[in-house]
Amino acid sequence: MIRFLKFFYILSITIPIYAQSEYIYVLGNTQDAGMPHIGCNHKFCQDNFTKYEQFYVTSIAVVNSDLNKYILFEVTPDITYQLNHIKNNIFQEFLLPEAIYITHAHIGHYSGLMYFGREALGSKNLLVKVLPKMSNFLKTNGPWSQLVTLNNIKLQNTRFDESNSELSNIDVTPIKVPHRDEYSETAGYIIAGKNKKALFIPDIDKWEKWDKNLTELVKDFDYLLLDATFYDSKEINRDIREIPHPLVSETINLLNSLSKENKSKVYFIHMNHTNPMLDSNSDLSKMIINEGFNIARLGQKLYL
Ligand SMILES: [Zn+2]
Ligand SMILES: [Zn+2]
Repeated sequence: MIRFLKFFYILSITIPIYAQSEYIYVLGNTQDAGMPHIGCNHKFCQDNFTKYEQFYVTSIAVVNSDLNKYILFEVTPDITYQLNHIKNNIFQEFLLPEAIYITHAHIGHYSGLMYFGREALGSKNLLVKVLPKMSNFLKTNGPWSQLVTLNNIKLQNTRFDESNSELSNIDVTPIKVPHRDEYSETAGYIIAGKNKKALFIPDIDKWEKWDKNLTELVKDFDYLLLDATFYDSKEINRDIREIPHPLVSETINLLNSLSKENKSKVYFIHMNHTNPMLDSNSDLSKMIINEGFNIARLGQKLYL
């Protein structure tokens, strides 16, 4: 008996079983329009016409590898590739998520839903959890409304600040963030696991328009996946006021006084094709890593 207990003790210190079966898995890190970008002639986009699999539109999965189950955040135009990526890298079989959460109705965040319809997968009652305005948008506008009437998807309403659970040990709570809300509200998500807690905010207008203090929030979370659409305002030839985002340079300034440990909780995500942070070999990527922050990349696991 003692020998058995000793064996179990050694096993339990060498394999930390309890925490490692649940994790966030990064499925994509680009802004809505993806990489390469339509009509873009710059070298990084052109090169990536032949290496498309490395870049998908921003999405994360939360996986429970003991149960062989997961939930998905965002349904991007790259969903076909992303579900195949999950099959090849996680489950070794094609599995649909237990539930899908969507932040808002801009193209990169929900338009992949069309691949669950009659012309494509033809799924049955796939659970899609959205806020009331987003739900109404999907129910009342084609082609999304057909997914509802044919029961390809089953919509369920969520509410800000109310928690949800479709995966054991994982609580998901939508929180309100300020963003261009033409068709829907915009949610960020708190994803709380047994041991760690993450904040997922792929799109927000400006930190100062929010009723929460980002610097304080960093201390409350273990991982923060934050809007990194543009590094600075010189990247694009458009009036940046039409498409406001916190510039990564501003976010870094805001968080600069934090400890190294706190900075390392930040994972920049949702990068525009013009943002050199997409290229892991760029000087900018290296500088950001040197400053102590992280950049979300396909295949990263963040244990909960
Ligand atoms: Zn977006
Ligand atoms: Zn480009």
